[in-house]
Amino acid sequence: MSQRGFVLWFTGLSGAGKTTIANNVEPELERRGLVVDHLDGDIVRTHLSKGLGFSKEDRDINIARIGWVASRVARAGAVVVVSAISPYEEMRRHARSLVEQHAPFVEIHVATPLEECARRDPKGLYAAAFAGEIAEFTGVSAPYEEPLEPELRLDTSGKTPTESAATVLERLEELNLLPPRVEATS
Ligand code: ADP
Repeated sequence: MSQRGFVLWFTGLSGAGKTTIANNVEPELERRGLVVDHLDGDIVRTHLSKGLGFSKEDRDINIARIGWVASRVARAGAVVVVSAISPYEEMRRHARSLVEQHAPFVEIHVATPLEECARRDPKGLYAAAFAGEIAEFTGVSAPYEEPLEPELRLDTSGKTPTESAATVLERLEELNLLPPRVEATS
């Protein structure tokens, strides 16, 4: 078993919990002996996609880049965890098609309702968006197209990040993507 790569792609509104769940899932993947890289939307935008904005065109370029990198890295045998709003179905499908040439693609729709995301407002962005200070803000002044057939849809309302991460890991188990835990040798 040398090629065990796959892509775990979290999509959803800002504040839905993509990054938080990804950060909770990652250590368990590593405990299973998997090599993991995390392409987080906010970080990607400071490197790979520096200079891109939030028009539909720029968002599409951003997701095409993430999908391309994810496909290469998964092909090399690592797990790529992506957390990116990725609001357009067409571009998520494009990313899936690039990845599936080499490795499984697991789409997780973090379907926390807008009201809950806005209540959390971890970065203060919803307050600004509702005040009209941010143009093209997903869910407020730009669209979010819900995934039609994600491998998993989960609403984090009333759940802890640990519980939400456990739901993701269960789904990966069902999909036969989790190797057994690597036991510490004494
Ligand atoms: P996103 O990456 O989708 O923009 P973040 O992970 O940055 O979202 O923020 C989600 C916020 O919601 C964090 O403040 C997190 O602590 C909180 N939260 C509460 N419950 C959950 C849960 N079950 N899963 C994930 N995040 C949760």
